Amino acid sequence: MFARTGELALLRSSMYQYPLAIRKLIREISKLPSLGERSATRLAYHLVYRDKELAFSISELLKQAMEQTRFCQECFALSETDICSICSDPGRMPDLLCIVEKPIDLFSIERLGSFNGRYHVLHGLWSPMRGTTPTDLKFEQLIERVKRHNVKEAILATSSTLEGDATALFLASELKPLGVKVTRLAQGMPKGGELEYADEITLSRAFSGRNVID
Ligand code: ZN
Repeated sequence: MFARTGELALLRSSMYQYPLAIRKLIREISKLPSLGERSATRLAYHLVYRDKELAFSISELLKQAMEQTRFCQECFALSETDICSICSDPGRMPDLLCIVEKPIDLFSIERLGSFNGRYHVLHGLWSPMRGTTPTDLKFEQLIERVKRHNVKEAILATSSTLEGDATALFLASELKPLGVKVTRLAQGMPKGGELEYADEITLSRAFSGRNVID
């Protein structure tokens, strides 16, 4: 009897599906980084049924963010103008570059409030395993900037992962022949850790104790 009730319940649960529009929404949300289907389902349910006002606000702000922001043409950070506020600030040294993987890393370093150079956002890492080549990164633009501004020091602030280290080594081999002093954030960053997860004290120490790559 129990088995039959169980079977019936299973049959019923397998028959039930979320409405098509919700299933599509869940599928799209679950494509976001670090979100599985379960979290995506919870989010979709919350937005659509629990807090419609928040859902409308997010959809409107998403549209605005896409329409009103772009990548800075110089450093490729997020910006509201063609050239971002850092690149157009004469107080920020153009010959000191901090090279990061993604725009969010720039915010982690800016929060420290101690760096007065400029940035270059690669928008990825060099990864032969995934078939990424330097041409997929903002690499040519980096070399052009280094030459144009006669960059004296390039701080490689890619994360201490295999791909982050490989990218740093590659960049060092390309930048050193141009007469640039190449430095790398000191050890002590969380192992395999990305910049965005490092706390401010750790990041600050890694930054000030950076090592020259010979
Ligand atoms: Zn910029």
